[in-house]
Formats: sequence, structure tokens, C-alpha cells
Amino acid sequence: MDNSEISKERADEIFGALKRKCPSLECPVCKCKTFNLVASEVFLPLPMRGENNIILAPSRGRKCVAQICNNCGNTLIFDLDTLFK
Ligand SMILES: [Zn+2]
Repeated sequence: MDNSEISKERADEIFGALKRKCPSLECPVCKCKTFNLVASEVFLPLPMRGENNIILAPSRGRKCVAQICNNCGNTLIFDLDTLFK
């Protein structure tokens, strides 16, 4: 099992936090109110530039979760540190 895979317990915590912080969450594109949680955490890399403006392989980033709109597929990304703050 991949470490970034979201367990049932973790998914419940995420749904709870989303409900508390975004009680009227809806897709900003089509206004649908149902989403599917992506089963793995998403790592959002922060690009770093080295000498001569060369982009280095990202070693830093943010752990996020993604919710996909059931109707249109628009994807919402939530930063986990902020969601559980
Ligand atoms: Zn939508």
C-alpha cells in the first residue's frame, strides 16, 4: 500500500474538516454539491530555481487532497495543513 493512500478513517477526518470549514461546498463551475475524494494524497511541488534559472527537481511541496466534482470533473485541491488548522 502506498503511504500517501488515504485510509477510511483519514477520509472520514477529511470529510469532517471539509464539512466544518466549507459547509456549503459546491463546484464553482457547475454548482453540483457532490464530489469524489481522490483515494491518495496529492503532493503539490513547489518549483525551485538554481543557478542560471534552471528549475530543480522539487524537494519541497504541500500535501493536499483532491475532490472531483461528480458532474463536470472540475477538481478542487485542499491543502491538508490549512484544512486541519
Ligand atoms: Zn462541477
